[in-house]
Amino acid sequence: MRSIVVHYKELALKGRNRPWFVQLLVRNLRSALKGIDVAHVRSVMGRIEVDLGPTASYDEARERVRRVFGIANFSHAGHGPHDFSALAGQILADLGNRQVSSFRVSARRADKRIPLTSPQLEREVGGLIKVAKGWRVDLEEPELTIHLEFLPDQAFYFFGKDPGAGGLPTGTGGRLACLLSGGIDSPVAAYRMMRRGCSVYFVHFHSYPILSRASIEKVHELVTLLTQYQQHSRLALVAFGELQQQVVLAVPPEFRVVIYRRLMLRIAEQIARRWRAKALVTGEVVGQVASQTLENMTTIAEVSRLQILRPLVGMDKDEISDEAQAIGTLPISNIPDQDCCTLFTPRNPATRARLVDVLEAEKALPIDEMVAGAVAAATVEDFTWPGKGGRDG
Ligand code: ATP
Ligand code: MG
Repeated sequence: MRSIVVHYKELALKGRNRPWFVQLLVRNLRSALKGIDVAHVRSVMGRIEVDLGPTASYDEARERVRRVFGIANFSHAGHGPHDFSALAGQILADLGNRQVSSFRVSARRADKRIPLTSPQLEREVGGLIKVAKGWRVDLEEPELTIHLEFLPDQAFYFFGKDPGAGGLPTGTGGRLACLLSGGIDSPVAAYRMMRRGCSVYFVHFHSYPILSRASIEKVHELVTLLTQYQQHSRLALVAFGELQQQVVLAVPPEFRVVIYRRLMLRIAEQIARRWRAKALVTGEVVGQVASQTLENMTTIAEVSRLQILRPLVGMDKDEISDEAQAIGTLPISNIPDQDCCTLFTPRNPATRARLVDVLEAEKALPIDEMVAGAVAAATVEDFTWPGKGGRDG
């Protein structure tokens, strides 16, 4: 079996966007499979066929395909001719000495011009396999389902389906800039938007050299991992420690957290505009910490003219942690670090910072200068996957 048959969700792509959607999915599959011996990737009548070359390992290809968004399910498949006995012969050869107590054949006609109906196709091919193997046919709960898909000039067969990553193909949504801390939430927020077809770039604020490089290392690992789902990412690292020190010297403790956040958003917005990103993404959740009351979120968001997307806004911590575990980011997020925000965070930040008071407090700071300086000093790195270790260069 030298093929992978990839199925995408039909419902999500009715209408005129469909060819474009499929084209991007084909492109993304090609680039996700880079370095693996692939003869071709092509769209055939409502599915995508990946033909593996002689040296390709299916297991390796499977791990790549699993991470490509826009796929409902996929299967390791063989293909043969329409001729039933030749087709059944090939299926039997690939089944080898596999034994099951019951089976069924499930056929689909991609090309409706084929003269037999699907149940007839199932009976023809199923009959030959039953005779050869002596297996019982069970249409309700078979131990093995042999899937057939008839295309105009050939038929695919496969014995199971792997779930795909779902969502929409990368590139069908716009570009976004995600504020990525080393915590649990923001990587999940980024993943959720990536899954909607958006290409997510990242901005991280760190306090090196005042604090260790730990948060930078964590964010490198997080972006390396997340890049497996979109194949290319960009990360801006912004030195934030000195700005925080300026805030500490000029602003009463209760407003500091809100003002740090407002500075972060202003800086992220400028970087996002350079990247032509259409919106910002954060891992904010209503009520999670003092800075995330609705009042504070409003006072913080007020600085940004770019839309702020908060995909986790109504989730519980447990739900977010479960998702982080499934994506693979949780163990990285759990590595202890010295977050730039813990260092200069007062014991009792205001939970309802009023905008007038915050604006008054900010008068003591050269905001524009601080923002421009941080943006100019930001360093940018590109990440690609698959590639050596993930990070470029
Ligand atoms: P996380 O969402 O990563 O778990 P957190 O739980 O510590 O962070 P907050 O500190 O309240 O939450 O931050 C709220 C949001 O602000 C984060 O989800 C993230 O989008 C952004 N943010 C916070 N700190 C940073 C940082 N150092 N760099 C970039 N973005 C940050
Ligand atoms: Mg959080």
